[in-house]
Amino acid sequence: MDGKALAAKIRQQLAREVAVHTERTLAPGLATVLVGEDPASEVYVASKRKLSVAVGMNDFHRRLPGNCSQGQVEDLLDELAGDDRVSGILLQLPLPKHLDAEALIDRIPWHKDVDGLTTHSAGLLSRGLPGLRPCTPSGVITLLKEYDVDLVGANAVVIGRSELVGKPMARLLLAEHATVTIVHSKSRDLAEITRRADVLVAAAGVPRLISRQHVSPGAAIVDVGIHRDKDGLSGDVEFREVEGLAGRLTPVPGGVGPMTIAELLRNTLKAAQLAEEQATKNPSLD
Ligand code: NAD
Repeated sequence: MDGKALAAKIRQQLAREVAVHTERTLAPGLATVLVGEDPASEVYVASKRKLSVAVGMNDFHRRLPGNCSQGQVEDLLDELAGDDRVSGILLQLPLPKHLDAEALIDRIPWHKDVDGLTTHSAGLLSRGLPGLRPCTPSGVITLLKEYDVDLVGANAVVIGRSELVGKPMARLLLAEHATVTIVHSKSRDLAEITRRADVLVAAAGVPRLISRQHVSPGAAIVDVGIHRDKDGLSGDVEFREVEGLAGRLTPVPGGVGPMTIAELLRNTLKAAQLAEEQATKNPSLD
């Protein structure tokens, strides 16, 4: 499953929708917040900024030094929350260890939470109510649908239970009527469970965790893992071993990564549309 090509198609469509939006009102604006100098985060933030500008959005990138205080990040998030030009706020993770990431994520107002990671957004997803969804799991669903992978009644196995990927992934698959199993670091006999999967989403963050013995013939496999070594990027799945066996498979790079950014841009436009709706309902009195 070619995430790179699908993401490019989604961005083209978004660029048209952003142009229509911008004719009526302020252009959507994305504020990426980078704290410290994590090299992988620098790369991710750079591509999020570049691609948001490419679809016609405004870039409100901000950065803080790695030794900044909790209060400094809070002040910055509050400033961005109060800025009408900023439709969406993305606090790039991971944060330096001395900061309380959970509290900072929850400082982002739900209607600007384009990463979909606040407690409020997680609650909306959990209850099946409209809201901004986490980008990586949304990208996985979009990719599976593009390739006509039947999710209704399918046995879907998600490896990983993080707030960022595993848990929202399981909830989104459930919303698509899949029968969902979550496996994690304490689960017994991984292969026995994954071999029952029609759809397998690997998000353990363990290089080459999934090999032939974990896969049933014809299964759709989505590799969320990203690992960097001297040979470049790889995922949680032994791509070459599994390639001939899986019905569908995502590569790393070129699978879930570009889809994550496409969904971030989609969320940013949605956040801008939410702000426009709010402004129409509650026009300023002056
Ligand atoms: P995490 O470390 O927070 O969570 C990993 C999860 O995997 C945990 O719930 C853990 O219980 C489970 N796990 C670990 N080892 C396991 C094992 N041997 N068997 C079964 N389960 C196991 O990581 P995360 O933030 O959820 O990210 C997971 C991976 O996805 C990482 O490689 C990360 O870099 C990647 N990622 C990619 C994108 C993207 O855009 N492609 C986005 C987010 C994360």
